[in-house]
Amino acid sequence: MKASVFYEPGKPLQIQEIDIDDPHGHEVLVKNIASGVCHSDLHIVEGKMPFSGPIILGHEPAGIVEKVGEEVTEFAPGDHVIARVTVYCGHCTMCLSGAPNQCINRVSTQRKPHERPRMMLNGRKITGLADGAGFAEKMLVHEHALVKIDKDIPLDKASLIGCGVMTGAGAVFNTAKVQPGTTVAVFGAGGIGLSAIQAARIAGARRIIAVDIAENKLAIARRLGATHAVDASNSDPVEEIRKIAGGGGVDYSFEAVGTKKTAEAAIQCLAVRGTATLIGLLPAGQNIEFTPGFVISGERKIQGCLSGSTRWRIDAPRLVELYQQGRLNLDDMVSRHGRLEDLNEAFRAMKAGEVVRTILMFPE
Ligand SMILES: [Zn+2]
Ligand SMILES: [Zn+2]
Repeated sequence: MKASVFYEPGKPLQIQEIDIDDPHGHEVLVKNIASGVCHSDLHIVEGKMPFSGPIILGHEPAGIVEKVGEEVTEFAPGDHVIARVTVYCGHCTMCLSGAPNQCINRVSTQRKPHERPRMMLNGRKITGLADGAGFAEKMLVHEHALVKIDKDIPLDKASLIGCGVMTGAGAVFNTAKVQPGTTVAVFGAGGIGLSAIQAARIAGARRIIAVDIAENKLAIARRLGATHAVDASNSDPVEEIRKIAGGGGVDYSFEAVGTKKTAEAAIQCLAVRGTATLIGLLPAGQNIEFTPGFVISGERKIQGCLSGSTRWRIDAPRLVELYQQGRLNLDDMVSRHGRLEDLNEAFRAMKAGEVVRTILMFPE
């Protein structure tokens, strides 16, 4: 099968022929049909997240089950599935305490060193990002990575749930637990931010303020549930948020950009007892600053959020159902479709802020 391989930052990805094994045990072989191109992939390509190649990126895949290992009982060939490639073991302390996104025993879901690798490039082992492989025609994953979906759900829309939508919506539902009638500010109206905005709408937030520097994204944010939009390219977002929210600031802020400036603004715009949830990854070595007195005397909270505090098997079916009911809009989050060959262009468009998501499509 073909896959797009990352070698080193700054170099274009290369399409290579990969040897992929048959599934054993709890593994499932999936033919990828659609795969979202996420900002984390871009961060790796740009060298902001250090990763050494060769590696296959892509972590928002949706596809059709081709073969299953002998221990797999939940999936059968022909099933439509979405994948959260960061799998969980199901029996470590993190998994058992309700935080499978923090699983500390992922190694038990992988092949052992003496076993044949799942994928090989020119006779040598190659891995995919977080054990998946979205930018490839197929992937061989542990069954815990997958959730089955109805066959009438378009796979290009469904693929978004695997990372961007799960992360943004999970930050609101799971990490911050946004309450009805509250005020929310979301920094960054990309895939994650727009999902947070939608989740805030579903959760019943009273005022939802989208902050971005791209007018086209703010327009989408309004369509998806933002009650107010702040263009940070020509205003001070903290001041604007305070004006719009009243009461000195918002009850909840979400940072989905990953810069020092926006992370600090997400703290500064909080009302008394407000909570800032930091989602966007800052470049390694980048610290942020805040005034301790402001946080302490106002009992403000700052918390991190990894992949929406996802309990994948619980949350993914819920998001799918919200989509089926028309309450979660995935259709407007897909900006473009492309092919595996278009990946480098997809990264350029994402960096230029032209798209929310490009979805790579593989011929069926
Ligand atoms: Zn992602
Ligand atoms: Zn675990």
